[in-house]
Amino acid sequence: MARIVMKFGGTSVANLERIRHVASLVEKEAKGGNEVAVVVSAMSGETNRLVALVDELDADAGPDGKKWGEAIEDEYDSIVASGEQVTSGLLAIALRRRGLRARSWLGWQIPLRTDMAHSMARIAEIESSAIGPSLADGNIAVVAGFQGVNEQRRISTLGRGGSDTSAVALAVALKADRCDIYTDVDGIYTTDPRIAKDARRLNRIAFEEMLELASLGAKVLQTRSVELAMNYNLPIRVLTSMAAEGEENPGTLVCHEDETMEERVVSGVAYSRDEAQITLLRLKDQPGMVAKVCKAMAEANVIVDMIVQGISKSDRAANLTYTVGKRDLEKALAALEKSKDTIGFEGVKSDSDVTKVSVVGIGMRSHTGVAQTMFEALAKRNINVKVIATSEIKISVLIDAEYTELAVRALHSAFELDQAAKLKVSAP
Ligand code: ADP
Ligand code: ASP
Ligand code: MG
Repeated sequence: MARIVMKFGGTSVANLERIRHVASLVEKEAKGGNEVAVVVSAMSGETNRLVALVDELDADAGPDGKKWGEAIEDEYDSIVASGEQVTSGLLAIALRRRGLRARSWLGWQIPLRTDMAHSMARIAEIESSAIGPSLADGNIAVVAGFQGVNEQRRISTLGRGGSDTSAVALAVALKADRCDIYTDVDGIYTTDPRIAKDARRLNRIAFEEMLELASLGAKVLQTRSVELAMNYNLPIRVLTSMAAEGEENPGTLVCHEDETMEERVVSGVAYSRDEAQITLLRLKDQPGMVAKVCKAMAEANVIVDMIVQGISKSDRAANLTYTVGKRDLEKALAALEKSKDTIGFEGVKSDSDVTKVSVVGIGMRSHTGVAQTMFEALAKRNINVKVIATSEIKISVLIDAEYTELAVRALHSAFELDQAAKLKVSAP
């Protein structure tokens, strides 16, 4: 007998018909003699709908006529977490209608404890003392993903896409034998299959590569879920919930690097439309200026990502360009306005019509020429690069959003990701 965690994303529980289908997949595992905990997301589109409601009300002016009044993150969490409450209850009913014993669990009932960072909380601890024995008693646990409870007993949420992290953390806490993430694609691809039709499903991908792809925008897994799985050495399988009865569904195994992985320099292309670019004009070219800008951003709780300083002219002024999350742009601009005199710059320009496109591969550590191939491929399509960032296993560029698809497809074919590669060791 094995203990299994199965996670179903928004499209997999989009309506009652899909929820009934999910119940049939869960039933198969339970009838196979396994202990099953299921983690569910909200119905697709529901979290966006709830976020939009909060944003609309939050945009109302305060009593002094100004925006940016009191923070509302605690209420944001309690509102957006509600989508998962609905789907966990519905799936529990669907399972009971199949004659199975099942109950829903909300974050606070487990409890899944988090830190105090509302809207992007980190999991601190999952108590398995209630849910574990319930599983061992033959009950199926249907857990609302994405949500937890903080030390002030308020509801918290784990950031967008956070149900993946709920599932991996639960699998770790329950010492599960398997963690299967069911979604609307049949595995991890060389790039988003919605953009490049010739993207290929990988049989296996290394944790490190998946971690980079996820943090650079491949939303198929939340970054923290991969981080957690890597730290606890828990392989996760990503597969589709849409397979027809009897159809093969091998998915992709995310695990430590091994010899059955493809040998290539670049293994994937990711993109993120969640970026915004800020340029400070004529910033004094003196030591400590960038630190002042970063301090202003940190105080406003804004994360700075890519950063580039223009070549300084003889009059000792330079332009500084950096990127922040699109959702943080207004907050960042307000913070800059407030500290304009202490920082010392002449003007600000911003642009949220930008995309970050990245190539990722462990092989970049030991191969040269990746940057050249990348920039030649972009230049051939006349795509202008605004900002560049690199690390050991990735190169990212910021480009105009209108070229996103073109750039992703160009890089995907420049690195021959549409073609099968040799395995590190040929299959026996
Ligand atoms: P769920 O609702 O099941 O959590 P998501 O929408 O969060 O599903 O993630 C699945 C989506 O991730 C896919 O529909 C696909 O468009 C996108 N995606 C982006 N990059 C990749 C990739 N490299 N491989 C597979 N899917 C990807
Ligand atoms: N429902 C949440 C979201 O849309 C969490 C998730 O789907 O993983 O971000
Ligand atoms: Mg998701």
